[in-house]
Amino acid sequence: MDPCIVLNNGARMPRVGLGTWKAPAEKTKEAVLTAVRAGYRLIDCANDYDNEHAVGEALQELLSAGEVKREELFIQAKLWNSNHRPEHVKPDLEATLKDLQLDYIDSFVIHWPQAVPSTGKNPTLRPDGCFPAHYSKNSMFPLDDEGYYSADLESHYIETWAAMEELVDQKLTRSIGLSNFNRRQVEEVLLSAAKYKPAVLQNESHPYLHEKDLRDYCRANNIAFQAYSALGSADRPWRVSGSITSGLPTPGYEVLSHPQLLEIANKYGKTVPNVVLRWHIQLDGALVCKSATPSRIQENFKIWDFSLSEDDMKVIDKLNVGWRHLLWAETSMHPDYPFKDCLPWDYKLGKPSAGSTAGAK
Ligand code: NDP
Repeated sequence: MDPCIVLNNGARMPRVGLGTWKAPAEKTKEAVLTAVRAGYRLIDCANDYDNEHAVGEALQELLSAGEVKREELFIQAKLWNSNHRPEHVKPDLEATLKDLQLDYIDSFVIHWPQAVPSTGKNPTLRPDGCFPAHYSKNSMFPLDDEGYYSADLESHYIETWAAMEELVDQKLTRSIGLSNFNRRQVEEVLLSAAKYKPAVLQNESHPYLHEKDLRDYCRANNIAFQAYSALGSADRPWRVSGSITSGLPTPGYEVLSHPQLLEIANKYGKTVPNVVLRWHIQLDGALVCKSATPSRIQENFKIWDFSLSEDDMKVIDKLNVGWRHLLWAETSMHPDYPFKDCLPWDYKLGKPSAGSTAGAK
């Protein structure tokens, strides 16, 4: 199994990457050092994770000590929702580059399709840390006067994409891509792309949410599908019972405690995370998985010395219930909200509340 996927620009993207969402800044440097020393070459970052500066410190240490060369690494970052206006796109990436202490990254993806205003009224994310260059207080998750998420209705990702294309010409990123876009939205970008087509689509996928149609669509259009929450996102508080994915039975177990996965893991003398990650790559995919625990980071990379039988792949196929963790339903009033089909028929728009969704604190 080739540990890399060849992107539509010819670059090689490692199939397995370290995720950094929810990694506390004080643990992120060690996590990245551990990951690179264990063999990971892809680090997945975002400016709203509040730890890009710690990723930067780790990269600087590794590069200056000669432990790895820049060209061996694949660093991915994301354009935040409040920076979709074309004039904000480059400043967003420049702030990330400063925090990462790099001249360029390898992949820059639009984090979500829904644009939000670049200023807001209510205290939201990140009391300190690395804000995008356009940062003005409270701008990451702006709320309206009633406490609902705001939308920037005059901004659309098609114009954002044109500004993203410029970043490739300016050599600030080697490739550009999308995240949390549904198939129709990906298609719109593909059709509008003047110079560069999306190289990567980073969307949620794990044994409860296979996204086989989307994976097939990406394959047919030469876009690398990269799964996020590849292990089922066990550190999300509503991980088992709280998802409101329309009409679906609750799986009853966290992905990592599913008895059938445990049985398969025991058969191969591997752990459940190993089995889940191996399943992803045997689908010919790519993934990012997060841990801030050095021993788990090392464990999760030990997936190259075994392969799952066809029968075991089929067992995992049957676990798919289309169950999405990261619905971010409170933004579903936005015209560019991507997951309307997953909302329950009687869903009523809610205000963000602690622990219930991305960005609420
Ligand atoms: P994952 O599916 O990677 O799961 C992370 C959780 O699994 C953590 O609780 C971690 O614990 C635990 N874990 C990891 N390895 C093991 C192990 N070997 N044994 C037991 N538990 C383990 O979740 P994420 O939602 O974080 O997704 C991965 C990455 O994808 C993110 O970090 C981010 O980079 C990206 N992402 C992107 C999104 C987007 O909108 N584009 C949205 C969501 C994620 P611990 O850390 O305590 O070790």
